[in-house]
Amino acid sequence: MNTSNKPAGTLYQGTSASRGIAFGRISFLHRLSSVPQRNPVQDVDAECARFEKARLHAISQLGSLYEVSIEKLGEQNAVLFQIHQMMLDDPDYVSSISNYIRKEKCNAEYAVHEIAKRFEKQFLAMDNDYMQGRAADIIDVSRRINEILMMHAGNIKAKSVTLGIDGPVILATDDLAPSETVQLDPETVSGIITSKGSTRSHTVIFARTMAIPAIVCLGNQLTPDLEGRNAIIDGATGVIIVDPDKETIQEYLERKRTDDAQQAHLEMYRGSQTVTRSGRKINLFANVSSLSDLDLVLASDAEGIGLFRSEFIYLQESDFPTEDHQFKIYKKLLEGMKGKKVIIRTLDIGADKTVDYFMLKHEDNPAMGLRAIRLCLYNKQVFKTQLRAMIRASVYGKLGIMVPMITTVDEVRECRRMIDDVKAALRSQGIAYSDDIEFGIMVETPAAAIISDELAPYVDFFSIGTNDLTQFTLAVDRQNAELTNYLNPYHHAVTRLIEMTVKNAHAAGVWVGVCGELASDEKFTAKLIQLGIDELSVIPSSILRLRARIASIG
Ligand code: PEP
Ligand code: MG
Repeated sequence: MNTSNKPAGTLYQGTSASRGIAFGRISFLHRLSSVPQRNPVQDVDAECARFEKARLHAISQLGSLYEVSIEKLGEQNAVLFQIHQMMLDDPDYVSSISNYIRKEKCNAEYAVHEIAKRFEKQFLAMDNDYMQGRAADIIDVSRRINEILMMHAGNIKAKSVTLGIDGPVILATDDLAPSETVQLDPETVSGIITSKGSTRSHTVIFARTMAIPAIVCLGNQLTPDLEGRNAIIDGATGVIIVDPDKETIQEYLERKRTDDAQQAHLEMYRGSQTVTRSGRKINLFANVSSLSDLDLVLASDAEGIGLFRSEFIYLQESDFPTEDHQFKIYKKLLEGMKGKKVIIRTLDIGADKTVDYFMLKHEDNPAMGLRAIRLCLYNKQVFKTQLRAMIRASVYGKLGIMVPMITTVDEVRECRRMIDDVKAALRSQGIAYSDDIEFGIMVETPAAAIISDELAPYVDFFSIGTNDLTQFTLAVDRQNAELTNYLNPYHHAVTRLIEMTVKNAHAAGVWVGVCGELASDEKFTAKLIQLGIDELSVIPSSILRLRARIASIG
């Protein structure tokens, strides 16, 4: 911890999570964690009506949030607010609160809090990750109602529909759930600082996509006395300066201007090829998780989509998405990219991404459990439906199919066999598909890298998922904030696996990309190119920066 009282202000060091410089007042995310006071009420009907009014207000807030989020972050994220609306309409939840108010003759805030706790406990006791995940949602929606109740009572000031803050602020909190991150309005929240968090969590990936500077893992440096203090955060270095003096503000304004100027400079790389100084061509593709990211991809000047995380289609549904539903999404994606390559990753459900209709059993180690391709081969009908939707859509552009979490040759053979069967069935039904579909796998387990020579004959490409490859090679849970220092993608073990994969791939005429977060790490770009990587797939906002970086490499 660095808290020296230099004239520049007080410095804190965290872990860089999303680059960029931000200025603002520090504002803690108030989650109303304190228990509301229990107050006796005489008129229980009036109190129930108060609750009802707040509930309807909350539902309408969530409706606005849903609309805004579709625009900002795509439907797969926005759907969370529809789930929250459904929770607030749940008759069991609503009547439990009214009954509590009547029985206990107490205030609505207290009743909401007590019932929320009861539901939370029930959700947590369920033997299903998805339902356990709903425990946080019930607390979230109940908190929303209580904020509204307090606002109506004049106990707290009116709040904005985002996270109840007036901007621009630097949002401080212990950790942010992905559901909270999608609520952020970059106009209001100029930066994020958290005491916990992990740089490779989906929350951080969202923050980067939204171009919000973020610093995580500040630990106990993030103390309540920072509330309301002016601060500068530098997302690239992980430095926070609290109460900066005028000179420091000037210095960082200058840095930000330089950053902005660099951004403007990057514009000259728009429309050009991605080549090294010696003329080596690298394919620079984008990572996306929803159809609504398409605009971002087109604006970024990416040369294709290297990773479409298709599981987000499943995450937003309450039942298995039909073939037609998926077909329409893949078709729009391929059409939108106008002939540029689109690599769709097959379902990667399991681990931190679960949905209740899969009825997944509780697992002690879900990241190493029945997930991704294992789940698809276990539930072949689901996989077949997805393959049919993709293959049908292939006539609308240039499709690549990519399978995650491969560990054996048998899995790859089985996938190919299923793809052949789907094509044969389509043929016999007179349904068109392209003859030019590439097939590849993610190399994100040490096993896949080590047997990449055996896997290569069965694929057109490998895409190295350095997020999981690092996690599994180093035996470090990527979700565990405490282990951030151990989660080192530069570790020689990881580099050697990448090297081995590229050599084996090239020997078999197979191209290799990297689609994990390491792909956008400029410090490692030269190394990846030296190792022989053919493609990099990164978040859209990194495309031009990386093209410029590659142009500077010999
Ligand atoms: C990876 O593991 O590197 C990857 C790209 O996949 P995800 O982050 O979705 O697990
Ligand atoms: Mg992965």
